[in-house]
Amino acid sequence: MSPTLLLLMLTLVGCRWIEDRLGRRDLPPPAERTAPDDAPNVLLISIDTLRSDHLPFYGYGRATAPALTRLAAEAAVFELVYAASPATDGSHATMFTGLHQSEHGKFSHEQRLDAGALTLAEHLHAQGWRTQGWASTYKFIVRSGLDQGFDQWTNVHKTEKNERSAKITAGLLRLIDDPAPAPWFAFAHYFDVHAPYAAPEPYASAYVAGVAPAAPAETGDYISANRKSASKVRPAHIEALKGMYDGQIRFVDAQLAPVLERLGVGGARPKPAANGRPTLVVITSDHGEAFMEAGYLGHSVYLHEAIVRVPWMVWWPGAVRPIRVPQPAMGVDLLPTVVELVGAPAVESSGLSFASQLRGGAPTVPDDRVLMLQSPQYWAVAQRRPEGLFKLTTRPKDGGAARLLQRVDIDRHDPREQRESHPVVYAELSRALESFPFKDPQGRSVQRTDISAEEREQLEAMGYIEHDED
Ligand SMILES: [Zn+2]
Repeated sequence: MSPTLLLLMLTLVGCRWIEDRLGRRDLPPPAERTAPDDAPNVLLISIDTLRSDHLPFYGYGRATAPALTRLAAEAAVFELVYAASPATDGSHATMFTGLHQSEHGKFSHEQRLDAGALTLAEHLHAQGWRTQGWASTYKFIVRSGLDQGFDQWTNVHKTEKNERSAKITAGLLRLIDDPAPAPWFAFAHYFDVHAPYAAPEPYASAYVAGVAPAAPAETGDYISANRKSASKVRPAHIEALKGMYDGQIRFVDAQLAPVLERLGVGGARPKPAANGRPTLVVITSDHGEAFMEAGYLGHSVYLHEAIVRVPWMVWWPGAVRPIRVPQPAMGVDLLPTVVELVGAPAVESSGLSFASQLRGGAPTVPDDRVLMLQSPQYWAVAQRRPEGLFKLTTRPKDGGAARLLQRVDIDRHDPREQRESHPVVYAELSRALESFPFKDPQGRSVQRTDISAEEREQLEAMGYIEHDED
């Protein structure tokens, strides 16, 4: 379906709520404002496919990311972060707009981000920031709309995979050393962790384990061909794939290191950019990667914890405290948090700002807030409660009837249905699921239907076990 047709359908089905948010655009045009003298530069780094639990400062046993570890020691580190979606397009559109997928409506690369959506780049540009973006996959081509608000947009996706990050790093270093006085906002999308796992040495063999089921260059195809082959992908294969994946993390960490060192990360003090301004560094990911924890390899459809738990660090020594943030966060929170930290006027967002807490204030985000996740095929809400961290997943294809309640704090991959043990949690999260205005890529709402015995059985089997193809 063309983006134009989709927009027409969204209008026809009366998505007034979405339209209101996307249609509002009352900011002054660029260059009418000058950023404040004390405005920082902003560097937003997205490391594609990076699950948080493979980073040492999120508890991983391997030293996969020495440069990021140095940054994390000086940064605010969010402990529980859900990506907006298990796929690149929707998660980045949420980071950029502060809206849920149902609101911005961009689920895939075939859909253009609505030109009326206000992005972080557009907002900062209107406030006097220069804006520059670098991306690494075809999903960020200009017609994706994700380039909205950038003075300069560079997509290195046609460069050989292992050379893309070096180009981005070189571009960032040039920007940091540019003495033009205005602050800048840079978005840098690093793609190395994404399959195929074919980093150069010494990273490729940094974590050799198990029995590789495919040559490094073939791992992307192997994952695509065996996403649901739980019986074929043996534990030794999983160990090998994880080792290769960890080598990719080590590789991207090495690619990032020159930028972080230039900014003074891990040094005696932060170093201003050539424009004399400090730099706020925000690092996160769009989704993780599953290694058969729930019978699935890779990402893009399911809302398994392996796929939706991502890192988020905010580094700005002297302004942002080096703290651990236990309150739950989502991708939709990034925009309001950054906007408030840099002192730009607030914009309407479905996320919450953590800015005052990061500066040293008391937490303002409720520990028991309801978190929303969405792919085209699955919707979920999650909540930390006195009983534990629970996630309720449903499938709009069934009219929302089939549901799975999981407890994901003790063992985040525990597939067991919890509704019998926790009926109150099930009832309350069901109400939360029904009250959130989820829309599918065609703009349709879920209609609640009664649960039949057959559907219940299907649900129990679901545990993310049978599914649509992505
Ligand atoms: Zn991605």
